Amino acid sequence: SNVPNIILNNGVRMPQLGFGVWQVPDDEATSAVAHAIASGYRSIDTAALYRNETGTGRAIAESGVPREELFVTTKVWNDRHGYDSTLRAFDESLERLGLDYVDLYLIHWPAPKQDRYVETWKALEKLYADGRAKAIGVSNFKPTHLRRLMEETEIVPAVNQIELHPWFQQAESRAFHAEHGIATEAWSPLGQGKGLLEDPAVAEVARKHGRTPAQVVLRWHLQLGNVVIPKSVTPSRIEENIAVFDFVLEDDDMARLAALDAGNRLGADPDTLG
Ligand code: NAD
Repeated sequence: SNVPNIILNNGVRMPQLGFGVWQVPDDEATSAVAHAIASGYRSIDTAALYRNETGTGRAIAESGVPREELFVTTKVWNDRHGYDSTLRAFDESLERLGLDYVDLYLIHWPAPKQDRYVETWKALEKLYADGRAKAIGVSNFKPTHLRRLMEETEIVPAVNQIELHPWFQQAESRAFHAEHGIATEAWSPLGQGKGLLEDPAVAEVARKHGRTPAQVVLRWHLQLGNVVIPKSVTPSRIEENIAVFDFVLEDDDMARLAALDAGNRLGADPDTLG
C-alpha cells in the first residue's frame, strides 16, 4: 500500500490514513473492512461503542494480511472508566476482535464529570507496559484534560483523536499536540459527508485538480500532518478515499480550505459528554 506512516512519540509507526467503522453494523463491518483491506487500507478504527469489533475482527482474520502489517485501534467507552473496569473492557474488546494485542488503545472521551480519566489512563499505561497495546492515546481530550494527564501520570498520549475537518479546524488543539509530540488524528475528516463536500470552495478546488471533493478534503488533512480515518460502506468510495497520494494541493488551495473554518462542532462537546 502507498499510505505513508507517521512515527508516534514511542517510535511506533501508524498509517496516516485508515478506515473508520462508526455506525457500520457488525454484519456489514466484515465486508466493509474486507474491501478496505483489499483496497490497501492497513489501519482500522473501531471502538467498543460501535458494536462491530466482532465483524471487524472477522475481516482481519480472513484477510490473509499478516497481523504485523495491520494497525488496529479500539477504544474504551465512557461506562467503563476506572482502573479495573478499563482493564476488563480491554480484555472484552480483544476477545471480540479475536486478537492478542491492539496497535492503539484510546480513551474514547474524557467524561470529565465522572472525573475518572486519570485512573483510566493508568490502566492504559499498564496495558502498554504489558505489550497488549503497542501505543496508547486518547480521544476528544481538550488541552486542559491533556495537561492534567501529563501532570498526574507517566506516559504522554501518542495520539489524540478529535473532531477535525475544514469546518472545525481545531487550531488550539493542533498547536498543543505539536508542542507536546502528540499525533493529531481527525475524526469525521469528511465532516460526516453532511454539506462540507458540497461546499463551493471545496468543489472548485476539486474541479481544478480533477478530483472529488472527498479526495481534496482528505488531501488537505494529510498535508497538514493529520491522521485521517474516513468511513464509507460503498466500495467505490472506499477506493476513492485512499486514492489521494498522487496529487498535491498548492498553497492557494490550502488557503481556500483554511478559510472555511466556522468553529462549529458536528459532534458533542467533550466537557459535557459522558
Ligand atoms: P466521515 O467524515 O468519515 O464521513 C463519512 C460519511 O461521508 C459517509 O457515511 C458518507 O456519507 C460520506 N462519504 C464518505 N466517503 C465519501 C466519498 N468519497 N464521497 C462522498 N461522500 C462520502 O465521518 P465519520 O464516520 O463520522 O468519521 C470517520 C471515523 O472517525 C468514524 O468511522 C470513526 O471511526 C471515527 N469517529 C470517532 C469519533 C470519536 O469520538 N472518537 C467520533 C466520530 C467518528
